[in-house]
Amino acid sequence: MKQLLGFQLANSKGENIQGDPEDPTGLASFEVMDPMLALSVIAKHPGFLLMPIFQGDIEEPQIVFREDMPQKGVTHTMCRHCELDIEGISPYPEGEWRDRGNNTHCPDGRWHAPQRF
Ligand SMILES: [Zn+2]
Repeated sequence: MKQLLGFQLANSKGENIQGDPEDPTGLASFEVMDPMLALSVIAKHPGFLLMPIFQGDIEEPQIVFREDMPQKGVTHTMCRHCELDIEGISPYPEGEWRDRGNNTHCPDGRWHAPQRF
């Protein structure tokens, strides 16, 4: 029996999206979430599914734990209000998203907001 390493994120159709632009965690395709992290990601992002990853499924997997996420969770995306490139840290509190000019607000005064949240 193969050993379970952890989980990766899938969309509602069951397709693995980890490392894709639609992945809200910002994790890379070779990174595997340990079960506690996987549960917290699913709780924060309803609509996504978990895909079990077994030893040998992906090359040189790297297990990521919940404690790793403040560094690992930095994500670049586009603001859904003003379409500027923004950067934020999981779990994406309002006001934590900044554009390249280091502003937390859109030109029209709203908070920058990531596309998927
Ligand atoms: Zn904005």
